[in-house]
Amino acid sequence: MSTPRLKILYLASSGRSGSTLLARILGELPGVCNVGELGLQLLFQDVREFQVACGCGLEETACPFWRDIVPERPGAMRDYARDYQTRHLWRAWRRGKNRPDGYPQLLRALRRLYGAIAERAQSDWIIDTSTNAAIGLYLRDLPEIEFHSLQLVRDVRDIVASWRESKAYLPRLPPRQIVAGWWFSNLLAEWLARDAGAFGRLRLEDLLAAPQLQLEQIAARLQKPMQGFSVISPGMVRIGGKTQHVLLGNPDKFQYRSQYEIPLQARKKPLRRMDRLITSALAGPLLRRYGYAWGAGAEDEATAARQG
Ligand SMILES: [Zn+2]
Repeated sequence: MSTPRLKILYLASSGRSGSTLLARILGELPGVCNVGELGLQLLFQDVREFQVACGCGLEETACPFWRDIVPERPGAMRDYARDYQTRHLWRAWRRGKNRPDGYPQLLRALRRLYGAIAERAQSDWIIDTSTNAAIGLYLRDLPEIEFHSLQLVRDVRDIVASWRESKAYLPRLPPRQIVAGWWFSNLLAEWLARDAGAFGRLRLEDLLAAPQLQLEQIAARLQKPMQGFSVISPGMVRIGGKTQHVLLGNPDKFQYRSQYEIPLQARKKPLRRMDRLITSALAGPLLRRYGYAWGAGAEDEATAARQG
């Protein structure tokens, strides 16, 4: 029997758009392995300085899933990790034109790594939630791997509100940085989708409003049966509790180790009227493109007033 071709589903989005949640659910499907932000950890983070435990609760070097695979991480990646994001992006963008020295070797090393993961997890699909589409530009070049991307979009005003508070190892970030990152990530995600096997675009709000329908559609595209989880009410999904070795990602991943009923609702935080207006103005064209209403929401204002 021939081995099924390895496929990557890349969730392209900006931070706090729900990718950790969506990948956790999809990672319950048979033959699907959710590795979290593996690409980000390999290429952008210097792992010696930025340590976040695996989703199983153990350090990467102690985790039974990763500890044997870690040596597969080529030394060259640590050099790449020290590099700067825009230079990564420029290199990936110019692929096939002025290929940097070592780029083909890097791709082959990444291919071996993702292959080892698939074998360990006995999966033909790997979900990578590194979110930043710049990493997707690398992953789509991997030889002998089918690359697919899914753009996950969330209303940037809710993202700004979310980043106003720190969360475990995620720091507070200022609104301007969030909006700039939102533009960057989403435009790159659209670029990525142009010649990848695109799953299209999914708004987090649509996923939360109709989870059964949206999850069925994704499972169908993965060619997987709807097994391993069930939507038990419009606002709740029950997962099977498969141990998932998720790197980086939202700290919520640790709750999913013991909490098998996951609420499907965004924890909306209020945004003051002025912040909302400025964010709306800065993000206007892209907000309209993704079908979000412009302007201040009465609900947000009332909540902000109550909370002072
Ligand atoms: Zn682990």
